[in-house]
Amino acid sequence: MNIHEYQAKGLLREFGVPVPDGFAVLSAEDAEAAARKLRGPVWVVKSQIHAGGRGKGKFKEPEAGDKGGVRLARSIEEAADFVRQMLGHTLVTVQTGEAGKQVNRLYIEDGSLIEREFYLSMLVDRETARIAFVVSTEGGMDIEDVAHDSPEKIKTFSVDPATGVMPLHGRTVAEALHLTGDLAKQAEDLTTKLYTAFVAKDMAMLEINPLIVTKDGRLRCLDAKISFDDNAVYRHPDVYRLRDESEEDTKEIEASKYDLAYIALDGTIGCMVNGAGLAMATLDIIQLYGESPANFLDVGGGASEERVTAAFKIITADPNVKGILVNIFGGIMKCDVIARGVIAAVKTVGLEVPLVVRLEGTNVEEGKAIIRSSGLNVIPADDLDDAAQKIVAAVRQT
Ligand code: GDP
Ligand code: MN
Repeated sequence: MNIHEYQAKGLLREFGVPVPDGFAVLSAEDAEAAARKLRGPVWVVKSQIHAGGRGKGKFKEPEAGDKGGVRLARSIEEAADFVRQMLGHTLVTVQTGEAGKQVNRLYIEDGSLIEREFYLSMLVDRETARIAFVVSTEGGMDIEDVAHDSPEKIKTFSVDPATGVMPLHGRTVAEALHLTGDLAKQAEDLTTKLYTAFVAKDMAMLEINPLIVTKDGRLRCLDAKISFDDNAVYRHPDVYRLRDESEEDTKEIEASKYDLAYIALDGTIGCMVNGAGLAMATLDIIQLYGESPANFLDVGGGASEERVTAAFKIITADPNVKGILVNIFGGIMKCDVIARGVIAAVKTVGLEVPLVVRLEGTNVEEGKAIIRSSGLNVIPADDLDDAAQKIVAAVRQT
């Protein structure tokens, strides 16, 4: 789960992390009042979308102006003007894809005078099974580019969960950023607070880009991006409340209601599979035969007929889907349950594209019989390979 920058900063502020003051606004009318509450003389007006690269982004509509999605205002009036220009318009950045994202809220922030910009991020490193820090003197740039062009400018290290964060880690951050004296102390303090927040809220990723030194010698987080471990969000109702469904794929929201592991992709073959491994293999084999999957979907081991029906509806609701492949290896999941779910769904939503079904495992004969007697135009398949070839051929015929 991702949250907006202003929410991330609000959360970090609770942990004592230095972030500029600011207010989120949803309407142009609120903009002036928000800006007035801040000191000035510079205000930053920032588009709140779940994507980075806003500063260098471009709005689709000419009336939004050509200054990007993060703008420095020199007066309260200018800040309000920027809000009016950007609100409701579509921002395209390197991370949004061509379609861009509609800006429905803006964050008005106290402007900072920047002396130096750094990069700092934290993530759960699966290899070491620890929380890792990634620190670089090259702030405000894409860390991927830095890693490619000057990897020596990136310092990474991880924290042993048995000891937790220690002064040593803070000193490593300070050293990597060439900070000394009071700024080194601030870096140590920041490191501890960020680690504490990361663990306390079950974050999966935290990125501060840029982390800055202000002209008056303060370390500050100027941007903040946080994503949370979806499997732990239930422990944090305060975090869950920050969810912005308008930023998420509607099909994925619907899937999450039924506890389905669904991820929208951009191909044409809708997939309903049980088990994450089999689902991955199904995506691979579709690709092998020259087409692309429209989604990843693991209906899970103990899916009910209702869940299967919901899954099928989500797949057919995707206008890109030109064919559907149901691939079930019945272990805990029973083939007859899948068959009944598919038929129930087809009865309510109809079936306008070819459907290939491969069933194997528990109650397979019963499942096949249910499908045969349904009168539906289903293409049966014997195994994964056969199923993939059949759906690819069917999609190409339409
Ligand atoms: P992103 O483009 O989505 O990563 O958004 P950022 O929050 O990182 O803002 C983009 C850039 O705007 C930053 O890298 C800074 O260079 C600049 N910027 C943001 N806030 C301020 C500010 O308070 N003062 C100044 N001078 N520049 C800022
Ligand atoms: Mn940034």
